Amino acid sequence: LFITFEGGEGAGKTSILQALSQKLQQEGYDVLATREPGGIEIAEKIRQIILDPAHTAMDGRTEALLYAAARRQHLVEKVLPALKQGKIVLCDRFVDSSLAYQGHARGLGIEEVFQINQFAIENCMPDVTLFFDISPEEGLQRIAANKGREQNRLDLEKLDFHQSVYEAYQMLIKKFPERIHVIDASQSFETVQKDVLAKLHPYIPD
Ligand code: C5P
Ligand code: MG
Repeated sequence: LFITFEGGEGAGKTSILQALSQKLQQEGYDVLATREPGGIEIAEKIRQIILDPAHTAMDGRTEALLYAAARRQHLVEKVLPALKQGKIVLCDRFVDSSLAYQGHARGLGIEEVFQINQFAIENCMPDVTLFFDISPEEGLQRIAANKGREQNRLDLEKLDFHQSVYEAYQMLIKKFPERIHVIDASQSFETVQKDVLAKLHPYIPD
């Protein structure tokens, strides 16, 4: 079972993913919790290149190709073997992030970015995607308050960029209504966790 976590900045994806992973493991499930871009050495190195605040000259297509390259390596080296072993894979971001950030917000085109990602993933799409819904304003406030967060090149982007990311996710939710489930991420951590478990219940019965 391949589950991906999606959403803008400050939606709480990473914390909820960790909590869910622990809970499922306590229940005896075999879980792989991982993230993109990264999750393995080669992809973590690509992540550093993409997100380096000094790399302000990076072209949008270069960025999209690097995300796709990191995704490919992570998929073949880590995700697919885990799925083959019957694990539940929880992945912090996947192809929808590229469609939203590079395809729409960077203006490369959702269809175009999907094409290069198809080369990378060869039809391997998530079984379920959870979209953590928070307004870009509130998400940005949350990350501003989180001092421990790593610096990255996206910190230079203004509110309109994040609004464009949000808009793209809304389009993706309409396009893939069976796959993408919306979670109200403005609620308390406990309530979000409950909602996540309820949404996943059809896929992970207790
Ligand atoms: O989710 P996480 O905070 O680890 O992502 C790191 C950064 O990379 C974020 O600022 C995110 O918005 C950005 N990103 C991106 N395009 C993607 C995936 C992530 O710009 N396809
Ligand atoms: Mg995160």
